[in-house]
Amino acid sequence: MPVYDLHCHSTASDGVLSPRELVQRAAAQGVNFLALTDHDELRGLAEARATAEEHGIELVAGVEVSITWRKSTVHIVGLRVDPVDESLVLGLQRNRLGRAMRAELMAEDLARLGIVGALEGAYAFAGNKELIGRTHFARFLVERGVVKDVKTVFKKYLVKGKPGYVHHEWASLADALSWIRAAGGQSVLAHPGRYHFGRERMRDLLKDFKELGGDAIEVVTGSHTADQVPVYADLALEFDFQASVGSDFHAPGEGGRELGRLMPLPLRCRPVWEGW
Ligand code: AMP
Ligand code: MN
Ligand code: MN
Ligand code: MN
Repeated sequence: MPVYDLHCHSTASDGVLSPRELVQRAAAQGVNFLALTDHDELRGLAEARATAEEHGIELVAGVEVSITWRKSTVHIVGLRVDPVDESLVLGLQRNRLGRAMRAELMAEDLARLGIVGALEGAYAFAGNKELIGRTHFARFLVERGVVKDVKTVFKKYLVKGKPGYVHHEWASLADALSWIRAAGGQSVLAHPGRYHFGRERMRDLLKDFKELGGDAIEVVTGSHTADQVPVYADLALEFDFQASVGSDFHAPGEGGRELGRLMPLPLRCRPVWEGW
């Protein structure tokens, strides 16, 4: 059985391994199909593809698009996208532009608490200066000794209602799906269990996602517990979505799941790779 890992990050977004190091690590972990899915960014894909060819693993061109759905931030993964499609490239560029401004506001908010130098500190962790994000701020806060680890940062800072959180309006769900479709890709609702939506709100999201042409949902992800997997497998079946599998790996030793180390997809699911 081939090993699929269809969600992970490199230094082109908020991962700590270069695309080359990431693919080497995936190969060492026995991954056969790896999708690099950097946030709002495609620039890591060429290096990842070249490395994958050297190691005999299949690189799936991917991206994780940040969107705002009914005032909540939601992530949509695109798989097998054409990385030079104009509509996708321009759409992602627009999403990236908002990040610099949000970062300034985040730093101002932290400065009000006496945490100074956060903007420069976060940028120092950003391998891609166009892709400044909360994870870079989180690593800065750990380095500064404000919080003991990245996981704890996202409990006390940078999330709704906590210092350093700044609401941001990303692309719409319809936009993200139209860019992914234009680029010939499949669209996947990322880590549905992470949104803490109630049952009705989750169903509303799945309904909208279906109506707008969404293809799949992540049933197995690094952030789902063993109990959540069957819940999302059932929802995939009910709404007739394919099912995807991805670690959402960012960094060794940061608390997330290792590349390729995931539970198997429940047998009742239709895998997102069924037509590949
Ligand atoms: P951004 O797109 O800049 O708002 O940052 C979102 C990123 O922050 C996610 O992709 C994760 O890498 C990270 N993140 C968000 N919440 C958590 C959490 N609870 N634990 C660890 N990382 C998180
Ligand atoms: Mn991330
Ligand atoms: Mn995500
Ligand atoms: Mn991710």
